[in-house]
Amino acid sequence: MTHTPRKRFGQNFLHDHTIIYNILSSLQATSEEHWVEIGPGMGALTEPLLTMGLHLDVVELDRDLVALLKDKFKQQDKLQIFSADALKFDFSALPQHNEKLRIIGNLPYNISTPLMFHLLDNSACIEDMHFMLQKEVVDRICAIPGSKKYGRLSVMMQYYCTTELLFDVPPESFDPAPKVMSAIVRLVPHEQPPVTVNNLKMLNRVVIQAFSQRRKTLRNSLKKLIDENAIIALNIDPASRAEVLSLADFASLSNLLIEEDLT
Ligand code: SAH
Repeated sequence: MTHTPRKRFGQNFLHDHTIIYNILSSLQATSEEHWVEIGPGMGALTEPLLTMGLHLDVVELDRDLVALLKDKFKQQDKLQIFSADALKFDFSALPQHNEKLRIIGNLPYNISTPLMFHLLDNSACIEDMHFMLQKEVVDRICAIPGSKKYGRLSVMMQYYCTTELLFDVPPESFDPAPKVMSAIVRLVPHEQPPVTVNNLKMLNRVVIQAFSQRRKTLRNSLKKLIDENAIIALNIDPASRAEVLSLADFASLSNLLIEEDLT
């Protein structure tokens, strides 16, 4: 069976065997584990995963590919194929014996951010996640305070998980080749959040507001939300910019706003 890649589904199929091997080796998968692959496509990662003897669920949106996968892997009794949109899929229904899921995907770049947050809503049932993403996005996820790429995605992702760039993947590794460089990121949800956040929506709001004009000082960018003296009382310099604040700083700003809301 042949398949013509569909742009609207973000289809860039991996065909570089060295890269596939490198991804697989970095996973250290074992046969007792429960794995979930998002967007298996034509099975470039699915096939080597199955040879490891693990339990694998895959979620694919393109019905033609679902048919192709069902045919290709009809002998595999440890594989379940779900024909579904991963953005709406209930991942928390997959574990069977309280085991945690290990997730992998060469993700369609247009849905990668909402999909990661959808998964993190269920992070209690997730052991770790390995994703192929645009390198630019991986750099932003992993950025530390003070760097140019540090922003909303860094703060919010680092609230949920430890983040690590494993390696870069050049465009030629895919068919068709995307225009940009890609990279593999490892995300491991924290057992306990690294900081206390009383209300995640408020954290999100403060972070969006603070980074909405990166070049402004906090005194100005947060003017509508929080008084300068209150910022000082949290030991944060109101003359600094959002990009130097740590996750803990954002947490204390958002917790203060929640307290104020209640009074
Ligand atoms: N893993 C394969 C395919 C990567 S291309 C490989 O590495 O070669 C991205 C895959 O995600 C495609 O198969 C595409 O059809 C699928 N996809 C796109 N949007 C999706 C969604 N919302 N839910 C599940 N799969 C999706």
